[in-house]
Amino acid sequence: MTLLERFLKYIAIDTTSNSKSKTTPSTKIQLNLAKELLLELDYLGLETFYDSENGYIYALLKGDSSCPKIGFISHLDTSEEAKGNNIKPQIIYDYNGLDVKLNSDKILRVKDYPDLLNHKGKTLITTSGDTLLGADDKAGIAEIMNMLEYFVNTRHHHGDIYVAFTPDEEIGKSIDKFDLSKFPAHFGYTVDGSSLGEVCYENFNAASITIEIEGISCHYGYAKDKLVNSLYIATLINNSLPPERPETTEGYTGYYHLEEVNGNVNNTIMHYIIRDFNQENFENRKSTFRKIIKVLEEKFSIKIKLTIKDSYQNMKEALKENMHLIDNAKEVIESMNIKPISRPIRGGTDGAQLSHKGFACPNLGTGGHNFHSIYEYAVLEDMEKSSEILIGIVKRYAKRNSKEFVRTPKK
Ligand SMILES: [Zn+2]
Repeated sequence: MTLLERFLKYIAIDTTSNSKSKTTPSTKIQLNLAKELLLELDYLGLETFYDSENGYIYALLKGDSSCPKIGFISHLDTSEEAKGNNIKPQIIYDYNGLDVKLNSDKILRVKDYPDLLNHKGKTLITTSGDTLLGADDKAGIAEIMNMLEYFVNTRHHHGDIYVAFTPDEEIGKSIDKFDLSKFPAHFGYTVDGSSLGEVCYENFNAASITIEIEGISCHYGYAKDKLVNSLYIATLINNSLPPERPETTEGYTGYYHLEEVNGNVNNTIMHYIIRDFNQENFENRKSTFRKIIKVLEEKFSIKIKLTIKDSYQNMKEALKENMHLIDNAKEVIESMNIKPISRPIRGGTDGAQLSHKGFACPNLGTGGHNFHSIYEYAVLEDMEKSSEILIGIVKRYAKRNSKEFVRTPKK
């Protein structure tokens, strides 16, 4: 099967996840793709383990046991931010670098997405303007399957190759039930990035903040020096924060983001998230809240309850001992005359969570763009090259000895 055939087959299966669902997987339809992949993995002759209850696939292509064991991970689900069923991909051969008409009123414009110009002469796969494409992360799955097929067919020397396909990545739950004991690779990569040549290993530290303000109410006619309106206090808190918000920052700058406020004069609850790449700055952002609240509590003689909950951490710290994963990937990419790209991920990844559980796992590009939207597109030649990068990485580690590597024990 060609990579394009695989990709078209996978995106035809709706796997939209649902953040409101309480079950795992969040939607049963994800199992339809899982079952298809299981058949294909069986056909290729891999050992498979299917966690049919939760929708996780783990598989092993046995290789030379003296080499390190390497793992690759992609996710089955697609984002609920755009429709994921009845996807009608358009294939544009020899792309001319101009705007692409998706349907009668939706246009993929070069002005809005100047990256398109990097793909002149290549094969674009776009949507028809009313769904997402599903390159996130079916491009990753297709590239992994293509890499496996290569090693099965060529019998080129390799170590044990583990692969895992997880449900519910888009709703942040894919690692909850990920069983690392079924995935005993020394280290691995998630194949869930965007541009060809991406090797990403830095992501945000993240926390959620809840602030509960108890005001003091009384008859407004006699309120002078007595009334403390909790809604007013909420505005003071928000106005005391530095102006770093998602919409005012990029690159390595973190932010404070007010997500929700609910309240009345007596009682107000605020929900924030904070993000930062740097651990010290991240802790400082938490302290900023503590300081603001202390001042207001004293000034107004009220109670303000602050709850800080860490969500995920930057994987950079956890990858320190395993920088060979970045170096080797970059060397493979450069050997193919492609420029490696390492940009900070302004979010979390599965690999970040796994890295902190002791399984080092940076993220690789897939050749897909504009994820979670009707403007999503993939570049076929970049997908093919991304799959070749996986093959190159496996070959590179096949020259090393497993004794050089230990899986960092779980803290
Ligand atoms: Zn993804």
